[in-house]
Amino acid sequence: VTVDLDSPAYSARVIRTRHVSAHMVRVTVNDIRAEHGGPPPAPGGPGDEFFGLWIPTPDGRPVKRYYTARAWRPETGELDVDLLLHGHGPATEWAARAAVGDVVGFDEPRGHYRPPADTEWIVLSGDATALPAIGRILEERDATAPPVPVTVVIALDDAADRQQLPVSSIDTLIWVRPDELVSRTRALVQTPGTGYVWFSGEASDMRAVRALLRRELRWPTSRWMTMGYWRRDSEAWDARYRAAGAQLHERLAEVFASEQDEQLQLDHAEELLRAEGLL
Ligand SMILES: Cc1cc2nc3c(=O)[nH]c(=O)nc-3n(C[C@H](O)[C@H](O)[C@H](O)COP(=O)(O)OP(=O)(O)OC[C@H]3O[C@@H](n4cnc5c(N)ncnc54)[C@H](O)[C@@H]3O)c2cc1C
Repeated sequence: VTVDLDSPAYSARVIRTRHVSAHMVRVTVNDIRAEHGGPPPAPGGPGDEFFGLWIPTPDGRPVKRYYTARAWRPETGELDVDLLLHGHGPATEWAARAAVGDVVGFDEPRGHYRPPADTEWIVLSGDATALPAIGRILEERDATAPPVPVTVVIALDDAADRQQLPVSSIDTLIWVRPDELVSRTRALVQTPGTGYVWFSGEASDMRAVRALLRRELRWPTSRWMTMGYWRRDSEAWDARYRAAGAQLHERLAEVFASEQDEQLQLDHAEELLRAEGLL
């Protein structure tokens, strides 16, 4: 069997959709099948577990976007994915019209959330797109381990997208405006003790938080995880990236194919993009 690496490993069928807030649609699928034979996916990865999701489009050619596995229910074979209605784009437009019977594809789930055992406090920070991961991380906290206080900071454009999150009495939940997210996160990171910081959101916000943790505070990489979940005005950026030419694309491919650790690869990729005016 020839397996195209950029094709979905699994397919699934929509059985339910509902709004969890004004702009967040929960799509529930089941009938999860491995496309090339073999076992179904094994749920139970880190709480920020995500995959490439192949979205149905009106022209019949699915497009891939990244989404979080908000909840698995192996007992019923169900999986929830929460999609933000943010405006335009194949995924958000599908979220608005998703219907029972729609078929999606997805690839192998993986995640990064791994606070070390000696962690004394945790910050979970991000925008609306980070809510699915933050919700699942909070739900899946190990009730048998000594409790670690968690501060959750979430930036929303619209207060109607606040969700009930399973925070406990030792936790803090802070809703902020998007322009406050980086500064509020920065302030929390100064908390004394051994912390762990998880941040996901818009790419330039992510870079600011990453620069703080990696270059300014020089925290070891085991103590933080930052990920750019989306890019503002991505069409314009994509056009500038294509126009930058094959040499840049090849150099970036070499960086990501190298043996260097992931954060060094990202440092080098940032340098190359910055030199081209792409950051
Ligand atoms: C690991 C990972 C996990 C993710 N998990 C989730 C999740 O669980 N739920 C979720 O909703 N999103 C999640 N995202 C973000 C999601 O993949 C992006 O928002 C994606 O761009 C949406 O695709 P689209 O087809 O709707 O828009 P695109 O075609 O990618 O973009 C169209 C336009 O919309 C803009 N845009 C894209 N996303 C946003 C946004 N969030 N807010 C405002 N403008 C935007 C772009 O700049 C562009 O101008 C995740 C991303 C990653 C990398």
